[in-house]
Amino acid sequence: MKKHNFSAGPAILPRTVIEKSAEAILDFNGNGLSILEVSHRSPGFTKVMKESIALVKELLNIGDDYAVLFLTGGASTQFFMTALNILGDDETGLYIDTGTWSTKAIKEAKLYGNIDVIASSKDKNFSYIPKGYSIPKDAKYLHITSNNTIFGTQFHNLPDTDVRIVSDMSSDIFSRPIDINRYDIIYAGAQKNMGPAGTTLVIVKKDILGKTNRKIPSMLNYETHIAKDSSFNTPPVFPIYVSMLTMQWIKENGGVEAMNKRNIEKADIIYNEIDSNPMFFSPIAKEDRSLMNVTFLLHDSSKEDAFIAAAAAAGCVGIKGHRSVGGFRASIYNSMPKESVQALVNVMRNFK
Ligand SMILES: *Cc1c(COP(=O)(O)O)cnc(C)c1O
Repeated sequence: MKKHNFSAGPAILPRTVIEKSAEAILDFNGNGLSILEVSHRSPGFTKVMKESIALVKELLNIGDDYAVLFLTGGASTQFFMTALNILGDDETGLYIDTGTWSTKAIKEAKLYGNIDVIASSKDKNFSYIPKGYSIPKDAKYLHITSNNTIFGTQFHNLPDTDVRIVSDMSSDIFSRPIDINRYDIIYAGAQKNMGPAGTTLVIVKKDILGKTNRKIPSMLNYETHIAKDSSFNTPPVFPIYVSMLTMQWIKENGGVEAMNKRNIEKADIIYNEIDSNPMFFSPIAKEDRSLMNVTFLLHDSSKEDAFIAAAAAAGCVGIKGHRSVGGFRASIYNSMPKESVQALVNVMRNFK
């Protein structure tokens, strides 16, 4: 049976990307070798790295004042690598705490400087994006988690400030256009909206680096990876290759503007059902609902297992909510077709 994959991450990829990846495992570029066994210094892979960087810049409209890196260590390594590289001892990094991933970013950044948590939605189990807080002007940066994968909230507007933004975009990178001029660093683990697990995209403004007077281990220093085109050590060849294929797919399908339009349509279909079906409800403030991770609950929580079974019978998998929220979470990333969202909505409609 056709599966509709609503997993939060690792997550759905376009079928054509999976097929091309499978071909490259058997024979990369028709040269008789698998992508899994070619040198990261080979001309074939050097070309993949170049094209991947060029696609990131093209899709997000990024100029040469930014470096594009493909690193390892997950978004979790970026929680401290950001502060380590740009936050001087006497400087302050501002954070907005919108749930699990922000909370972890705050904990790790505290190892390297003054961290000021200026707003939090913890009081209501992170069911909204904070508003009405003030932002000190003299801060080094303001860190946000643009989309909160676990709770299902998303920043639909950037905070109103001139302070430079550092953003964890792990679960909404390439889902919509961005104004790169507001950002000093953007990072994203590949496995939500870009590729398989194993690489992390980092976009960093070059002129902010090298100013902390801190000794930084080579592997944790952005400048090392910039100087070596993300090949200071062996880069994750296959995850980068699959990410390149996904970016090609995004480009062929109209770029991030078209993704955004489709994502809004898909989210509307499922949120409309949640709001009109008397069995279900959304715990999330309407204006802050995520277009990527749709969280919802049954009024009668004793029927949760029955709903998951009914969904599975229709091929809808990966909808169990994170343990800190309960209920359900439908992740509807870029590559999720509208028909799959409709399939889940049909299960909700027929559920008694
Ligand atoms: C999944 C996720 C992370 C953690 O990513 P890893 O690559 O597992 O370290 C961080 N932030 C957000 C927003 C996520 O969705």
